[in-house]
Amino acid sequence: MQTNNIQTKPDILIVNEIFYSIQGESTHAGRPCVFVRLTYCNLRCTYCDTAYAFEEGLEMTIDEIIEKVDSYKCNLVEITGGEPLVQVNAHKLTKALCDKGYEVVLETGGSLSISDIDPRVKRIVDFKCPSSGMEKKNFWENVNYLKNDDEVKFVIGDRNDYEWAKEKIGEYGLVDKCTLLMSPVFGAIDPKVLAGWILEDKLDVRFQIQIQKYIWQPDARGV
Ligand code: SF4
Repeated sequence: MQTNNIQTKPDILIVNEIFYSIQGESTHAGRPCVFVRLTYCNLRCTYCDTAYAFEEGLEMTIDEIIEKVDSYKCNLVEITGGEPLVQVNAHKLTKALCDKGYEVVLETGGSLSISDIDPRVKRIVDFKCPSSGMEKKNFWENVNYLKNDDEVKFVIGDRNDYEWAKEKIGEYGLVDKCTLLMSPVFGAIDPKVLAGWILEDKLDVRFQIQIQKYIWQPDARGV
């Protein structure tokens, strides 16, 4: 059983950044969204674009986080990282946001259990493909906890990743569980190539690109 491993003081989380932007990935792409990026990650993906969230962060109470989120007057909130589930209090935060009526999305790397997340939260589970170097960390029991409104994402770096993802989709019957997303690793594979493979195979997935990288600079933070 995979477990979370950082228990900060009651009602405290280490927060890397809170910002308001356009949701760039998932079925929510294109929507205005408040992002709460929590510090720490238990993985080290080869293509990680948020390594600054591994250690940098400030302590905030859950009330302080919610006050900041409230200030943007936007109903969609995404909890992300790093790996947000590393901090046990992430559960208290998501519950508090749901209780206030927010639509809450949580993006996780798929290595920690999603079983305890508030059922009102829409989970995006980013199972790690071989080119990430983190494939062995995938916690596949998570497929048993997927709901209709969750999403599974595969970030594809090469043809081997694509074939691997297709195999996992079949092995775990993922098409029947929730929406499936496939996106290219930025700068590693031409989006047209991945789109072509999906079309050729008539794969029942949603192709996507990280639109925030096209709106702003690819390495911009807080967008
Ligand atoms: S899970 Fe996300 S934040 Fe963590 S190393 Fe991988 S890409 Fe970076």
